[in-house]
This record gives sequence, structure tokens and C-alpha cells, in this order.
Amino acid sequence: MPLIRDGNLALDPWVHRGDDDPLADGPTIVSLDRWKRDRDTLLKRNLALGLRLKSDQAPAQVAADLGHFGVVALEFPTFKDGRPFSYAKLLRDRYQYKGEVRAFGHILRDQYLFLDRLGVNSIEVKDAKQLGEWRKAMAEFTVFYQPAADVRRLAMALRRQVANALKPSRPDFDDLTPVADVPPDPDAPPPPSPSRIAVADAKVRAFSHKYGHLSAQKLLAAMIETEFSGRIALVSSFGTEAAVLLHMVSEIDRNLPVLFLDTQKLFGETLRYRDQLVGRLGLANVQTIRPDPARIKELDSNGLLFSRRANLCCQIRKVEPLERALQGYEAWITGRKRYQGRRRAVLPVIEAAAGRVKINPLAGWSKDLLDEYFIEHGLPRHPLEAEGFLSIGCMPCTDRVAPGEDMRAGRWRGQDKDECGIHETPASQSLTSSGL
Ligand code: SF4
Repeated sequence: MPLIRDGNLALDPWVHRGDDDPLADGPTIVSLDRWKRDRDTLLKRNLALGLRLKSDQAPAQVAADLGHFGVVALEFPTFKDGRPFSYAKLLRDRYQYKGEVRAFGHILRDQYLFLDRLGVNSIEVKDAKQLGEWRKAMAEFTVFYQPAADVRRLAMALRRQVANALKPSRPDFDDLTPVADVPPDPDAPPPPSPSRIAVADAKVRAFSHKYGHLSAQKLLAAMIETEFSGRIALVSSFGTEAAVLLHMVSEIDRNLPVLFLDTQKLFGETLRYRDQLVGRLGLANVQTIRPDPARIKELDSNGLLFSRRANLCCQIRKVEPLERALQGYEAWITGRKRYQGRRRAVLPVIEAAAGRVKINPLAGWSKDLLDEYFIEHGLPRHPLEAEGFLSIGCMPCTDRVAPGEDMRAGRWRGQDKDECGIHETPASQSLTSSGL
């Protein structure tokens, strides 16, 4: 069925499953009834999960669990039923839900604008022949005066933007263009060969079936002890939630290589927290990775590149050093989670990237689960968390997060950037993912 997402025709990775359908490995949408009945089983399978709500099932019934879902699909039994509209607004405003809100069922193209403004960002179009009509509906209104749940920029903000654009340009935060115009890193490792990419892809598919039912701890043990013994590393930022994965790893193998990217722009608190956790958990192989001094001298001699070209700054301080550090490893472990939203909302547990296997054992974990783990194991918190820094990276690019804001809203605030680039893989280097 065609899908319109964020104003464009999109491929739909999600599959609706009935209450008694067998589960496959890919991103799966289940009913509220099935979620209530099989909650524990579904969580154990570590699938990318979506939730389907009928028009008499308010999101309040599942408010505490919303962090588990990458998509909430609202059913319209008839276009006259107004309840799913209300649910969309509640999801966005009251529950601060950041994942995909989808409408399906009996919807009219004339309802597109209302859905969009209430925070619905994807629509299943029943009849492909109607796509032309839906496209027209999407183009009917372009300027908005009233705020709504879609957080569109309003007419006044656009006017201010035009006025600012007419002022002489400022050097700060102007340039987020890709880094293709910069001389490549002369010490960069060669790109992975097609055969290596194919091997990584095949492993992801095989592991999806073999390990799909495992908890995060058991999955980690299988990867570290069995599948990639001596050829796998954990990459950790020692940020606000890093202690959970570090603790799990320390219980399996304290000598596992832990790669820590010191961009030389980090908070002193992060460096001290790293030392605290290393001592507390007995981690014996934490490797601090730093940028190449020659690249810094060549491209960021005054240390202010972050203020002009953040993508390039991340490239030379994070992406290139990590790529060099990962040479010799077949797999790496990350601490990303789906509840962090945006591009992470459909994060698989196992994926292939640039000829390596990437394991994301906490992909399906919610904030509540992480908090419980901290308490259960008496883990110390990052000292900046109590000061309102919910996601912590480099000092110049990390801001406090206000109550109700997305936890990563403080990263590169004010810029059209939400990832540093270490998790982006060129299309030519494949990106197969399992839906685990
Ligand atoms: S997060 Fe900021 S300071 Fe750190 S590498 Fe990226 S742009 Fe540079």
C-alpha cells in the first residue's frame, strides 16, 4: 500500500500483523490487544515495534509504554470519526511522542491538512490511483499562521528568516554542507570490498534468526564470546546512559576493547566520569581515540571549526578517527536506542554498515528500563545529567534540554544536524538491517 511520509511518497518498512499472525523479523505493527497480551514476549524479541490503535482505544491506555514504539498507527473506521484526530494531538502534545504517527483506514484527501497539523506524519493511502489527488492536497497550503502539533515554522518566523538572510552573513553556524569539497584523509583506510560487505550482510541475516529471541545481555555474550571473539569492540561516549552497556560488557569480558572518542572538545565532567566508570566496573581495555593532529592543523587550526562547519568538524574529530580505530574489527557495539527518536526510531538491533556488523543491544529499551537498570546495579550518573544535559557530546555543541523537549534537542541546537556522522554509511557500502 502506498505510504506518504513527511510529505513524500515513501517505502514502508513496517508490516501490520494480526493478533495471531506469526511474527517476522522486520519492523512490526501490532494491535493494542496483542501488545497487552504478549508484551513481555514482544519485548524479548527485540523487534522494531509499532502500535495500532482503534478509534475507541485512547493513547492513555498505553502512555507509559509509548517509548517502545517507533510508530503509532491510528485507525480511521470512517472519515467521520474524530477521535483519531484527538489521539494524534494527544500523542504529540501531552505525551511528547517523537516517533511516527500514522493514519490509516477511511481517510479523505481533504483531511490531509488537518492530519498533518495535528502531528500525523504518515498516511497509508488505500487506493494507489488516488495518489495524484493526495499530492494536490499536500500542496494546497504552504504558509501557516497558527501554531499546531506539527511544529511547522509559522509565517512570522519565516519572515524573520528572510530578514536575517538579507543581513550580511555571520560566520557562525552557516555552513552545514557535506564535506566532499575537503581533501580526503590521506591515512583513511580503503573502503570495504564488495565481498566483505556481502559477508557482513549475510551474518546480519543469519544472526537475526539465531539470536532474535535473546535479551540484551545474552545477545552481547553471544557476540563477544562466540561469534566475534577478539574481533569486536564497544564504542562508548561515556554519556548519560553509557553506564548500562558498559556494565553489561564488564560482566561478560572486562578486557573487551572499549573505544572512547576524545574529540578534544569534550566536557571535563565526561573525562572524569569515564575514569570513574573504568574504576568502578574494572574495565581493563578502554582505548582513548583522538583526532589526527595533522588533520586538525590543516583544517581546524584555531579550534573553531565547529562554529563554521560542524559536519566537517565531526568528520575530522569523530568519523575519521573512529574509522581508523575500527580497522581489524569485524563488529562493533553501540548504545543507541529507538526511544531517542528521529532517525533512531526504527533502529535495528543488528545491522550491517560498511562491511562490519553493528550490534545495538539496547535498541528496544525505554528510558524507564534504563533508569531501573541504573538503580538495580547502583551505577553512578553522569554529573551533568542533574544539570539538565540529557544527551552529552562535545561542549560547544551540547546544550541543556528544557522539560518536555526531545532528549537530544540540546545537540547542535539551532542547526539542521542531529547526528555526528559515525552512524552514517555510504549507500555504496550497503546497509542491511535485521528487524530484531
Ligand atoms: S560535536 Fe561539535 S565540537 Fe564535537 S566534533 Fe562535532 S562539531 Fe566538532
